[in-house]
Amino acid sequence: MQLLLVEDDRPLARSLEKALRAQGFTLNHVETGAAALHVIDTEHPDLVILDLGLPDMDGLEVLKKLRKTQSELPVLLLTARDTVQDKVQGLNQGADDYLAKPFDMNELLARLRAMGRRISKTRSALLRYGRVSIDSNEQSVFLDDQPVEMARREYMLLKSLLENPGRVLTRAMLEARLYSWGEEVASNAIEVHIHHLRRKLGNDFIKTIRGVGYQVSAPAKGAETA
Ligand code: CA
Repeated sequence: MQLLLVEDDRPLARSLEKALRAQGFTLNHVETGAAALHVIDTEHPDLVILDLGLPDMDGLEVLKKLRKTQSELPVLLLTARDTVQDKVQGLNQGADDYLAKPFDMNELLARLRAMGRRISKTRSALLRYGRVSIDSNEQSVFLDDQPVEMARREYMLLKSLLENPGRVLTRAMLEARLYSWGEEVASNAIEVHIHHLRRKLGNDFIKTIRGVGYQVSAPAKGAETA
């Protein structure tokens, strides 16, 4: 799951980044509402953790703006303003959950997991393409209905391709899905993951589009897309 953290308190942001990455989340961080809206538009995070007190605009304003185009994007509000009124206002404007500062890291992790489960439920849990299927609730992959062991990033890469059948995903797009900003990425990292996926799923499943990127072809007519 790719998270976007919108928080201008740097020490807090740094400790959140550390804790969430250690839990296997891919996390990017911005400090302003304007930057948040731009990143939500261009990088399509799966979930946003949004501070209410931002330097350029109120977090509720950010929420209102992003809801115009992103009605489904889950948003967890963070705020020091622990009043019932703010909470009601935030939830009325389309926040999915709310956490008052200071909060316990375990509480945040529990909320994120619960939101993650809700996301998986609303999206189709089983993506099937030919002989390969993935269960996004269990984060598991099957070849001819037999489970296949996957490293976390192999799974994320496969999922990105399967969610975009027929579309060529460039190396840069895949890196953005798999790694946080600033995280050290070997220049051949994506190629290495692709190599492992092909070893596990067969050579023909993922096509290389030379000089552009990778693609899983759109399923043929009549193929299951569950
Ligand atoms: Ca703040």
